[in-house]
Amino acid sequence: MFAFIAAFFIFNLKLDYFESVFYDARIAHRPFHKTTDHTELVLISSETTAAYKGVPGFKEHAELLKILSQAEPAAVVYATFPEDLKGSDQDKKLFAEQALRLKRFYFATDQLEVKGESAKTKLAPPLDQLEVAAAPKTSDSLKFGKDGVTRRLLTSFQDKQLLHLRLASLFNPEILEAKKIKGTFELYDSQQTYINYLPEGAFPRSTFLDVTSQKIPPAQFKNKIVIIGTDTEIDSKDYVFSPMNKDKASMTLAEMHANMFETLITNSAPKKAPDWLNLVLTVLICVLTVHVVLTMKPLRGIIILASTALGFTLSAYVAFWPFGYWIDMSHPFLAIFLCYYFFIPYRLIIENRRSWEYYQKHKLVSEVEELKTNFIGLMSHDLKTPLARIQGMTQIISKDPTPLSSPQREALDMIQQSSEDLTKFISTILNYAKIESQGVELHMQSKDINQLLIEVAKKNEFLAKVKHIQLVTELEPLFSIPVDPELIKQVFSNLIENAIKYSPDGSKVLITSEEVEGKVIVQVADQGGGIAPEDIPHLFMKFFRSREAKSSPIKGSGLGLYLAKYFVELHKGQINVESTPSQGSTFTVELPINRA
Ligand code: ADP
Repeated sequence: MFAFIAAFFIFNLKLDYFESVFYDARIAHRPFHKTTDHTELVLISSETTAAYKGVPGFKEHAELLKILSQAEPAAVVYATFPEDLKGSDQDKKLFAEQALRLKRFYFATDQLEVKGESAKTKLAPPLDQLEVAAAPKTSDSLKFGKDGVTRRLLTSFQDKQLLHLRLASLFNPEILEAKKIKGTFELYDSQQTYINYLPEGAFPRSTFLDVTSQKIPPAQFKNKIVIIGTDTEIDSKDYVFSPMNKDKASMTLAEMHANMFETLITNSAPKKAPDWLNLVLTVLICVLTVHVVLTMKPLRGIIILASTALGFTLSAYVAFWPFGYWIDMSHPFLAIFLCYYFFIPYRLIIENRRSWEYYQKHKLVSEVEELKTNFIGLMSHDLKTPLARIQGMTQIISKDPTPLSSPQREALDMIQQSSEDLTKFISTILNYAKIESQGVELHMQSKDINQLLIEVAKKNEFLAKVKHIQLVTELEPLFSIPVDPELIKQVFSNLIENAIKYSPDGSKVLITSEEVEGKVIVQVADQGGGIAPEDIPHLFMKFFRSREAKSSPIKGSGLGLYLAKYFVELHKGQINVESTPSQGSTFTVELPINRA
């Protein structure tokens, strides 16, 4: 929604100046060009003025026209004004005679003849027979680029066809039908189109002196529009500003006319894309930019926007060069910048709010966690003393020689077993509380892992026997490695206890050890019900118990594997599980031999 509003707002801004810059860049960086060979420039250069000891006058021009007339050019157009030529009436007469021998001869003028004012551009005798034709030089002084650059040409004025159209139609009659002129548009009383400039120097040219000194074969001008101009770098009115030279008027008037003729001969004027297409592009770019700013990571966003800008520029250039299709670039570019800078603060506000909420939530969670840990710790400490007392008392009773009745002996065994379970439970909870509050310190000793395994297996023999589970050990002889024996024993104890707890009566638990690639590997494999694949990622998390475990009578805190993983990782080792439901589970502990 925001993107649409932004797009409509941006599209309604007048960005002519920026568009003129993009337009000129496309004209100036044209990668290829060729001319049709229908125009030829003859320039009065500084060598010409040096050779003639001044600017050639009517007499010298008459000589030029005489040579040209032998070649039968399609037309001769003077971009130099008659008032700039010197000479006596005799010379003028001579000039007029030669000019009239040509098939077509024109003095190109900027002046437009308003209907009914035809006498205005008439020349005084003896030149009065010669035609002064309107071929105005345009200048973007008030519109578009507002930089005095000549970008347009007039094809007709008040329904009268102007010189460029008349002569170009000799080679391309199709353009006589106004509608067929590419990119044509109306401005005041005139029909205009944009000039499809070729790079400076693209048109064949020779100097006045080369022609009059017969260095150039006259045949070169046959059937061509010959444009006579001045290139002495003295008078600024002989030059124009074009999109290629906006800082210095360095293109000769003659070359400008050649570009105008060529644009019409090839009917290749740039054609503006319709407004709706430009609007659609601006909307699309706005939507993309807003989407990128609001949803993507900054670096990725910038890369995507830069590629969009680059891709769009390339498309605009490609549309322009071979197809002469002029897509508006200023609005889409402004859309990228404005949307980016407008929506970045908005995104920052959202992100700030999110991180504030996250911080608050996290703070609350860690406070609750701390309270829980403290509470568990305190509780367990307070339980430990009365429990030790119960255990002490049961031992006294069981060592007492007074014979006990069978129900009494059973009750005593039950008290002993339950208090042992409770002790284990409390030590697990205390370990957890220790980890959560200040962490666990390692007390390393060099130990044979097999010895620890045997010790733990022995302790669990009774538990296995109750369930008729066979505890099998296959231990490869190992070198001692540095470990904290108490912690590692807790790890093994948890794995073996679990294997017994979660296996059916009469099954087998296999404990193996071996050394592989600088690691001691211990495995505890059972033939129990296994672990569901969706539970495996949560298995080592604190307080996790599978749904089956929770609903079964098997007791547990859900802390055993969490502590096991913690302790193994303290030793820079790893703990993993592989399990096939209803076939069994294998827990693997890897401990590095050289724990540097
Ligand atoms: P608990 O005190 O519940 O045994 P643990 O952290 O030791 O806690 O184990 C977490 C859960 O992992 C258990 O509740 C059980 O669901 C599952 N589990 C652990 N070992 C085995 C095993 N050998 N076979 C099947 N499930 C197991």
